[in-house]
Amino acid sequence: MVEAAASRDVCLRALARIAEEKIEGNVSIKLTQFGIDISEPACRSNVEELVRTANELGSFVRVDMESSQYTERTLQLVVDLHARWRAVGAVIQAYLRRSEKDVEEMCRRGIRVRLCKGAYLEPPEVAFQDKAGVDHNFVHSMKMLLTAGTNPAIATHDEKMIEATKSFARTHHISPDSFEFQMLYGIRRDLQRRLVAQGYRLRIYVPFGKAWYPYFMRRLAERPANLAFLAGNLFRG
Ligand SMILES: Cc1cc2nc3c(=O)[nH]c(=O)nc-3n(C[C@H](O)[C@H](O)[C@H](O)COP(=O)(O)OP(=O)(O)OC[C@H]3O[C@@H](n4cnc5c(N)ncnc54)[C@H](O)[C@@H]3O)c2cc1C
Repeated sequence: MVEAAASRDVCLRALARIAEEKIEGNVSIKLTQFGIDISEPACRSNVEELVRTANELGSFVRVDMESSQYTERTLQLVVDLHARWRAVGAVIQAYLRRSEKDVEEMCRRGIRVRLCKGAYLEPPEVAFQDKAGVDHNFVHSMKMLLTAGTNPAIATHDEKMIEATKSFARTHHISPDSFEFQMLYGIRRDLQRRLVAQGYRLRIYVPFGKAWYPYFMRRLAERPANLAFLAGNLFRG
């Protein structure tokens, strides 16, 4: 648990610095980095310290979603912490078949959600395998979140998903201030600039610290197509 405590301390420093510099930012964490595979109670207590601090600073902790073996435990931890400290939110992956139920639950509890497609290799029992199925579920979840969610974040570089979000917000008179788009640092910078110029809110996810390289290699190992995605976008950005 030494590494987990180190991850917590890095995030605590990041939160303090964000507050000092008055940056409109927050931190995203992964429960595996916080030692969930070694000791769930210790992981919880590290995350709780972070969320409590974020709450005091008026900031926020996003708990990233990892592979489906962690979904239930991750959402449960977010629900439990949210009941004590508001400053925590979840991620829902549109490729998971269970997501509609999870989005409903998060909306009902007023928990902030980041919606993404999902980045892990999952079996057909738990996840839609085709792009059309994932996109359909993404749009369905986006509509639920824009209608009944709390400050939802729509995290995608897919122009079709972005257009669907803008169009749904327009036709339902949902203010662009009530949701945000999120994208990864350096991916589709052209699209990022365009959204901001059009008056939409955009948050950029920036991997930092010593763990970014293993993080990047894991993403590639899980889904080699991510390399093509990254390469294509580095040149386009
Ligand atoms: C801010 C943020 C946070 C995230 N957090 C999480 C998280 O907590 N958990 C998680 O599981 N995932 C997370 N993700 C990753 C996400 O689940 C997707 O894997 C990733 O964003 C790619 O999907 P997309 O929505 O951008 O759309 P895609 O449909 O995958 O891609 C959009 C466009 O990018 C190009 N493209 C995409 N893939 C390829 C490819 N393989 N080859 C060539 N071109 C390609 C195409 O032009 C395509 O039209 C996050 C993503 C973002 C932006």
